[in-house]
Amino acid sequence: MRTPKHDLPEAVAKRIPIYYRYFKLLETDGIERIKSEQLAKLVAIPSATIRRDFSYIGDLGRSGYGYEVSHLIQIFSTVLKADILTKMAVIGVGNLGRALIENNFRRNDNLQISCAFDTNPALVGQTLNGVPIYAIDQLVTVIPAAGITTAISTVPSEASQGSAEQLIDAGITSILNFAPTRLQVPRHINVRYLDLTAELQTLLLFEE
Ligand code: ATP
Repeated sequence: MRTPKHDLPEAVAKRIPIYYRYFKLLETDGIERIKSEQLAKLVAIPSATIRRDFSYIGDLGRSGYGYEVSHLIQIFSTVLKADILTKMAVIGVGNLGRALIENNFRRNDNLQISCAFDTNPALVGQTLNGVPIYAIDQLVTVIPAAGITTAISTVPSEASQGSAEQLIDAGITSILNFAPTRLQVPRHINVRYLDLTAELQTLLLFEE
């Protein structure tokens, strides 16, 4: 298997979790092998795209034989680090932050929000769904002590650059940012944006 992470096109990287999810469903249904045409129908992605995507990862199936479900799960879970518990911090415990903490990826054993931070003194010291809420100045002690390198930011847009800098100072290297504001970060910091308004606007753009 190659180590694809850095040369993986964005679109392929976005489909890999989808493939992983479907292979897990097939495993639950007791299906051991699936032909590429059946897989294409199931995930609603053309088989040529699937073949091309899989070729970035390695040699995942023989033509005419199909894909072996357990083998593919093993490969995708390695690529996605699905076997490893990733603990995360939430910064900004407003409506969105609270909803994320309440849900806490309960269907994914490997993803866990384990601490939260907010500037609001009324929230600091509280525990939400078992997750402690700390003050911002505790970032530099709590984050390294917990060995956390991933944060989800749900602070208001105007605060997102400043809080990203505080997160980075505390040792965070990956940020999922719910604010649309583009962050200015050093090259080694990994940032993704989840802008629900922009997604909806794109959706509506295609509405007849
Ligand atoms: P949401 O966007 O989640 O619905 P909201 O409307 O409840 O949020 P916002 O004003 O967007 O509230 O703030 C979200 C949370 O971020 C609040 O709890 C607020 O105290 C917190 N917050 C604001 N600035 C910062 C900051 N610089 N660092 C950490 N938390 C912050």
